[in-house]
Amino acid sequence: MHSSFAPTRRSSLNTSVPVDRARVLDTLVNNLQGMAYRCLDDASWTMLFVSQGCLELTGHGPEELVEGCVSWEELTFPEDRLRVRREITAATAAGRRFAVQYRILTSAGQVKWVVERGIAVADENGRTVIEGFIEDVSVRHLTLEALEHAELRYRHIFEHASEGIFQTTRDGRYLAANPALAKLYGYATPEELIADLADIERRLYVRESRRDEFRRLMEAHGEVINFESEVYCRDGSKIWISENAHIVRGAHGELICYEGTVQDVTERKSYQEQLERQANHDLLTGLPNRNLLGDRLDQSISRAERLGYFLALVFIDLDNFKFINDSLGHAAGDQLLVEIARRLRGCLRTSDTVARQGGDEFVLVLNDHYQVNSIISLLERVLVEIGRPVSLSGREFQVGASLGVALYPQDGGDASSLLKHADVAMYAAKDRGRNNFQFFTRELNHLADERLNLESAMRSGIEQDEFAVHFQPKVDHRRRIVGVEALARWNSPEFGQVAPDRFIPIAEETGLIVPLTEMILKKAFAAAVGWAPTHGHAIQVAVNLSPKLFLGEEIVSRIAALLREAGLAPERVELEITESVFLGDSERAVRILSEFKDLGVGLAMDDFGTGYSSLSYLRRFPLDIIKIDRSLVTGVEHEEELAMIARAVISLGQSLRKTVVAEGVENQAQFDFLRYQGCDEFQGYLIARPMPADEFRQLLARSGGQL
Ligand code: C2E
Ligand code: MG
Ligand code: MG
Repeated sequence: MHSSFAPTRRSSLNTSVPVDRARVLDTLVNNLQGMAYRCLDDASWTMLFVSQGCLELTGHGPEELVEGCVSWEELTFPEDRLRVRREITAATAAGRRFAVQYRILTSAGQVKWVVERGIAVADENGRTVIEGFIEDVSVRHLTLEALEHAELRYRHIFEHASEGIFQTTRDGRYLAANPALAKLYGYATPEELIADLADIERRLYVRESRRDEFRRLMEAHGEVINFESEVYCRDGSKIWISENAHIVRGAHGELICYEGTVQDVTERKSYQEQLERQANHDLLTGLPNRNLLGDRLDQSISRAERLGYFLALVFIDLDNFKFINDSLGHAAGDQLLVEIARRLRGCLRTSDTVARQGGDEFVLVLNDHYQVNSIISLLERVLVEIGRPVSLSGREFQVGASLGVALYPQDGGDASSLLKHADVAMYAAKDRGRNNFQFFTRELNHLADERLNLESAMRSGIEQDEFAVHFQPKVDHRRRIVGVEALARWNSPEFGQVAPDRFIPIAEETGLIVPLTEMILKKAFAAAVGWAPTHGHAIQVAVNLSPKLFLGEEIVSRIAALLREAGLAPERVELEITESVFLGDSERAVRILSEFKDLGVGLAMDDFGTGYSSLSYLRRFPLDIIKIDRSLVTGVEHEEELAMIARAVISLGQSLRKTVVAEGVENQAQFDFLRYQGCDEFQGYLIARPMPADEFRQLLARSGGQL
C-alpha cells in the first residue's frame, strides 16, 4: 500500500544522508494504532486511502474499503450514523476540524467505540476530500463509563445518605455538604448551609474549644472517631452530634481537606443522661442518691484536705414523717418529701450537696467553712426552713427534724466514719427532744448552745434597747480632739458585758447586723449633732460598717436618710470598712463606695496591715483614711520589724495623700515614734478609753478639746 500523501521532496534534516520523506510518513502512518484515511464527502464515505491500521480496527483489510467492498457508512453503527454525518458536515461547512466519537461494527460483529478526527481539504485535483484519523477508544470509553457510573453511584449515596456528609477546610469552612447535613442543622439546602455557616469554630460548636480539639485529634491521628459535641442548629436550638472524619491528603501529602460524616445522637445522649440520672438520683425528689453522695463526699473530703477548710456532714431525719405518711397516705408523704427537698436545696450554696439517703432521711455535705459558727447559723436556717408549715391535702402541717453533724477532719478522716458519726449525732438530737441539731464532738454542742442563746438574747436585746454606743476620741499630733470612733456596747441582763468581737460575727451571720447598725448610726449621729467645734474644727464621728451590709442595696440611701433625720452634715461622718469588703463582688463594693463619696461622707480603711493590704485598692478606691491596726502599733516602739512596717504604711499613706490614723496607742513611746514618722492622728487608751456619750461631752467641755 502506498500513501498518496504529500509529494516527495528532498529534505535537509541531515545534510549527509538524504531522507525519503514519503517513506518515513508511510512507516509512521502504517504503524500507528488506528487508521489514517482520505475519503470523499459522499453518502458512503468512499475511501481513497486507508492505512494498515484498518485491519486491526475493523477486521477488514484496507483494500476492501478502498475498493468499495464495504463502506465506512456501513461500518458506522446504525444509530450513530446520522449524528456522525451531521457533526462532520457542520465542521466541514465551517472549515474547521472535527472530532466525533461513535460506534463501529467490526467484521466479527463486535461493537467498538472510536474517535474520528479530521478536516476537509482540497486534493491535487481541487476536489474536496476528508483526511483524518480514526482510533479505537473502546477501553477508555469503558473506563470512563465505569467512572461515570461510579461517580453517579457515589453522588447518589452522598445525596441520599441519612447521615450528614461534609468536606471542610482546616480553618473551618464548608467545601461540600449533603442534604442530610443541611437538614440536620436546620437548612433547606446544602448551598444555604455552606453560605451561612462560614465559621464552624464559632458558629457551630456550643463549646468553642471543641473545634480546636477536633483539629488537634485530626493532626495527631489523621482521623476522629465518634467525636461527640453539642452544636447549634440554624434556629439556635442545640443538638448532640457524633462525627467520624479523616484528613484528605494530596499526592505530596499536603492537607486538602477534612472529610467525614455526622450523626444526630441527641436522643441517645438524652437517654444516656436519663439513665445516669436514674442511677445517681432519687426519682421522687430528683436529689442525688446514696451512690452519688458517696462520690461527692469523697470529692469534698479531698477538697477540704487541700484547702484546710471544715467539711460538715449533716444527717437529717424528719421527726413526724411516719405520722403524716400513715394518716394522710403515701401521696401526701411524697409531696412532703419533695417540698422538704426543695427547701433544703434553697438553703445551700451550689457547691454544697443535699442528698436523699432513703425514706425520710436526707444528708447535707457542706463545703468550705472556715469556722464552726457559720455552720451553726446555716443549720439554724435549715431547721427554720423545715419547720415552716407545709400544706398537704388542703391542711397545714408542721414537721421538725433531728440533725446530726460530723466534721472533717476532727470527727473522721473518711466518708464512712463521717457518715457513721453523723448518724450517731443525729440519734443524740432525737434524744434531745427533736427539732435540734447535735455535733458529734461534745464541746461543739456547748458552743452551739451558747451561740443559740446569745443569738436569741441579741434579738430581744435590740428590741429592749440593751445596746449602747461608746465613743473613743481621736487626736492630732498636738493631742487636739479631731474626732471619735463609735463602738457598739452590749450589756445583756443574761450574759453581762458582751464584747463586740463576740456579738458582731453572730449579728453578721444572722442578719441582725442590719437593725444593729441602724441603731448605732442613729445614736452616734444624735450624739454628734450636739458637739461644738473645737479649735475651729467640727468633731468627726466614725462608725464601723460590716462588709455584710455591702450585700444589700439600700445601705447608702439608709445612711443618707439617717443623716437627714439627725440633721448632721455628711462631711462630719467617716465610715470604717475593712478589706474583706473587696473580697466578694469588688465591682459592686467600689460602686457603693463611690456613692458614699458622692454623698459626702469620709471613708476609712480599718485594721490596715492585718489582711491582704493590697496597695492596688488603696490607689483605686476613694478612701480618705488609713487606720493602722493595733497589732502593728503594739510593740512598735521596740520591735524593729513593726517599726519598719509602720514607717512604710505611714509614708505610703502620705504619698497617696491619705490621713493616717494609728489605733491602739497605749503609751507615750508609741505616740512619739508614730508622730515622728508623720502619723496624722492617734487613738488608744493613752489618749482615752471608749466612753458613753455623756462622758465624752463632759470631757470635751472640761478639756477644751485638748487631751
Ligand atoms: P475596731 O474598729 O478596730 O475598733 C477598735 C477597737 O480597739 C475597739 O475595740 C477599741 O475599744 C479597741 N481599742 C482602742 N484603743 C485601744 C488600746 O489602746 N488598746 C487596746 N487593747 N484596745 C484598744 P472594741 O470596741 O472591742 O471593738 C472591736 C471591734 O468590733 C472593732 O474593731 C470593730 O471591728 C468591731 N465593732 C465595734 N463596734 C462596731 C459596730 O458598731 N459595728 C461594726 N460593724 N463593728 C463594730
Ligand atoms: Mg474601727
Ligand atoms: Mg481597727
